[in-house]
Amino acid sequence: MNCVHLDFHTSPLIENIGEKFNKEEFVKTLKEANVDLITVFAKCHHGYTYYPTKVSTMHPNLKFNLLKEQVDACHSAGIKAPIYITMGWSQKDAIDHPEWQHIDFWTKKPVRFGTVPTPDMDPETPLYDCSWATLCPVGGYSEHLKAITEEVCQNFDISDGVFYDICFMKDACVCDACKAGMKERGLDPDNYEDARKYYREKRIEFFTELNEIVHKYNKDAHIFYNGGADMNRPEYGVVQSHFELEDLPTAWGGYDFMPIRAKYFEKFGKFYMGMTGKFHHAWGEFGGFKNKEALRYECADMLSIGASISVGDHLHPSGEIDKSTYAIIGHAFKYVRDIEKYCFDTHAYTDIALWMSHTEADLGASKLLQIMHLEFDVIENANELSKYNLVILPDKVKLSDEDKSSLVEFAKNGGKVVCSYESGFDGLGIEKLEPSKYDIDYIETEIDEIVTPFLSYASAYKTKCEGEVLAKIREPFFSRTAGHYCGHKNTPFKDENADYPALVKNGNVLYFAHPIFESYNKTGNYILQKYIMRAIESHYDRMLVVNNFYSCGRIRVRKSDKDNFYAVHLLYAPPVNRGNVCLLEDFPRVDGIEIELKVSENVKNVFVADTNENIEFTQIGDILYLKVNNLVLHKLLIINY
Ligand SMILES: [Zn+2]
Repeated sequence: MNCVHLDFHTSPLIENIGEKFNKEEFVKTLKEANVDLITVFAKCHHGYTYYPTKVSTMHPNLKFNLLKEQVDACHSAGIKAPIYITMGWSQKDAIDHPEWQHIDFWTKKPVRFGTVPTPDMDPETPLYDCSWATLCPVGGYSEHLKAITEEVCQNFDISDGVFYDICFMKDACVCDACKAGMKERGLDPDNYEDARKYYREKRIEFFTELNEIVHKYNKDAHIFYNGGADMNRPEYGVVQSHFELEDLPTAWGGYDFMPIRAKYFEKFGKFYMGMTGKFHHAWGEFGGFKNKEALRYECADMLSIGASISVGDHLHPSGEIDKSTYAIIGHAFKYVRDIEKYCFDTHAYTDIALWMSHTEADLGASKLLQIMHLEFDVIENANELSKYNLVILPDKVKLSDEDKSSLVEFAKNGGKVVCSYESGFDGLGIEKLEPSKYDIDYIETEIDEIVTPFLSYASAYKTKCEGEVLAKIREPFFSRTAGHYCGHKNTPFKDENADYPALVKNGNVLYFAHPIFESYNKTGNYILQKYIMRAIESHYDRMLVVNNFYSCGRIRVRKSDKDNFYAVHLLYAPPVNRGNVCLLEDFPRVDGIEIELKVSENVKNVFVADTNENIEFTQIGDILYLKVNNLVLHKLLIINY
């Protein structure tokens, strides 16, 4: 499904709101751009509604029911139109009801995002970027949100769902309503864990109440609480009808975040979509445009992880839909239309499991697996281990005794285990002693011409390990402190190796003593990357081998059990950082990519999804050999069996 998230946060100082809204033009533009769904606004972050309201305040310069016009126009053209209601940010409500503000547990002050304007501030003070007060949906504000929801459900067709925005800021609140609520439940508002517990419980209860209101009017309406597709907040999955994985790669740190999140939320068995923006930089940027090929790449990237597509836009206060924006979106959505039938109802085809640590290390491991051109699933416990041949436990996985026994059994039965830092344990032949006392250390091994111990940008766990030592540790003379330092940066290494290892192979277990995945995520250290990749390569027999492809090249393999095909996505566009933006600008052609894929079925034919071009293949036993030429941006190969 091709979705647009159409923001409409509109200042009360601007006049003639929505006066250039033209139903016919609106839906014609959307139709031409292959848009299936567009989110339209009931209430925005300025705190105004875009329809006549009895429970809130309509935008002062809007003279008609814009929301109704938009919903009706979309529905008449067969376009879905879920309705947006702001939750956490509402500037007018924050001024009218200071008691509704979210109060930070630690500072006991209202939570601010950016430089929030207040009535006593010099109105000429420049505002930089996103600046809003944050409200707490407990007490009076929760009643207000219920009233708005009820009113929207009574007056509009909500069959396409409701989108609540900014539902999770911080993880504890000590506003008066929360403090009173905590005391009622015997919780201590001065205790952080109690405040977090209350926040979680109260939000789940409140969102359940909102769901009940919406479902009273339409039992099938989709409801999403934005901010709730966070891998560290899986407990909110129960109140979501689906997941929207908001991620602006241009402004939020690049192109590597979406895959692991999609793999995580795919496991909930609910509909999930990626969400990017049409903006050059980030949300709310009028006149900011992304290169249309970059947007096409982002859409193809989402399809390659089985996600539907959502692209963010922001409507001009005049209500006139922006033709330039929909030229770009339409370019990307046309491509999606051509290939999407091969993308959903598929699952990743892999024998590798990444066991989530719910720390930064997961992202480092995900990046490395993608650079290695390996497909993977994520898991959180031992129940699913039997489906895999390799399990990776990055840095800080918390394991129960049962998990540990299962992992020992898994390795005993031929499963390969890669673990690092705190994730190693006795049963695997790794006796953890204590973390190193140094700030950094060095790894002594041989990586091509590099024989000098290389900087790990971290320090190891001291261990006694069974098995063969593959790399050693060189400690620094001392940690770099105000009292002990040497030169500009890290202290150099001593002459002798330490008496504890950096890398050990014990049968089917490979143990890295460093927090390699977190360190890699932080530093992108090229030598560390080679060190990890080589060790894993020599430990695990790949079912997907890719030669002649770049580190920024991505390959993802999905399988449709229902329609008997494999879908191989190849993507290539190296991101560059320019100014404050991560950009895709060059889409060079790549030829001669060699793929070897283990498949147990007899392959009938292989073709390119959008052009139907046949691709020659050879199958010897259970290995399929393919050579791919003329990859520009994205190519989807369909392997029928
Ligand atoms: Zn509160």
